[in-house]
Amino acid sequence: MTPILESKGFAAAVIDALASHLCVVDREGVIIAVNHAWLNFKRENATAPVQSDIGTHYLRICRSATGPGSEEGEPFAIGVRAVLTGKTALFQMEYPCHSPTQNRWFLGRVTPLKAEQGGAVISHLNITDRKLVELELARLAATDPLTGLPNRRFFQQTANLELERVRRFSGSTSVIMLDVDHFKSVNDTYGHALGDEALRCMTRICNGLLRQMDVFARHGGEEFVILLPGTEDAGACSVAEKLRSAIAHMPISDGQNHIKLTASFGVTQLRPADQNIEAALARADTALYAAKHSGRNCVKSFAVLEREGGKLSA
Ligand code: GH3
Ligand code: MG
Ligand code: MG
Repeated sequence: MTPILESKGFAAAVIDALASHLCVVDREGVIIAVNHAWLNFKRENATAPVQSDIGTHYLRICRSATGPGSEEGEPFAIGVRAVLTGKTALFQMEYPCHSPTQNRWFLGRVTPLKAEQGGAVISHLNITDRKLVELELARLAATDPLTGLPNRRFFQQTANLELERVRRFSGSTSVIMLDVDHFKSVNDTYGHALGDEALRCMTRICNGLLRQMDVFARHGGEEFVILLPGTEDAGACSVAEKLRSAIAHMPISDGQNHIKLTASFGVTQLRPADQNIEAALARADTALYAAKHSGRNCVKSFAVLEREGGKLSA
């Protein structure tokens, strides 16, 4: 080894040059060195004067973590122990570490210290920028750009999870499918821009009438779906009736033209025998079709149609 690599301050200078905040622990997990970034991170987040962590047991720091992300302390401690006992040569984990003023995420990495006496290097890299981009991409992938509502894909995923819950634990959950009446003629008569505004306006009105836990999504075009957890068929029909009335009374205008919209609704309750959410949506679609055939601007329940003995194919 060249003399400079063996010199006293070499290792300290190298770890101080790193942007990740980092500590070195001995084979028991006791901190024996920290870098500048570690101390700076502590200072930025401290409410009291910063004490040196040297001599502190790292696993105790993991376990005494509080606030958002603290639930990741235990799995991280398990990873640190796995590296210290030689069970694994690398442990890494992404975790949130939010402060009252900002949301942050870190990548924690634990690698063995290649020394006779054992130990490990534990580093924490700030990955907030990448995480924010990932979260934004995930949001965009699940959102309809015109209305800002969840899209069909998001609805299917969420509704399938809810169906799984109904199948395992029973309970009542319903879906409403709604389709704007004669919407093509709105576009043809007043233009696509007013048509778009009508869809946005309808979204706002419906959102205002639904509960936080309901999932209101754009299924495609001028067709929307709503998942109502904990709601039986009759309750879902009341909600649909409320939405129908609100849409029928909703004023829409582009300054020049004033139009009115109506929508037709199909309702069904999820059934434990449903293989997937498509099975329930097919029943809602059948009920919606019946609503269209009854003159539109009305609500039909698949269960009621079934009881009435109508010819149904869902
Ligand atoms: P019905 O009562 O039978 O549902 O008649 P409809 O005219 O609503 O049904 P149709 O399926 O014939 O036409 C749907 C129309 O919805 C045609 C399409 O251009 C329009 N549409 C779908 N998505 C959008 C959108 O994002 N913006 C606008 N402005 N129009 C849309
Ligand atoms: Mg329509
Ligand atoms: Mg349609």
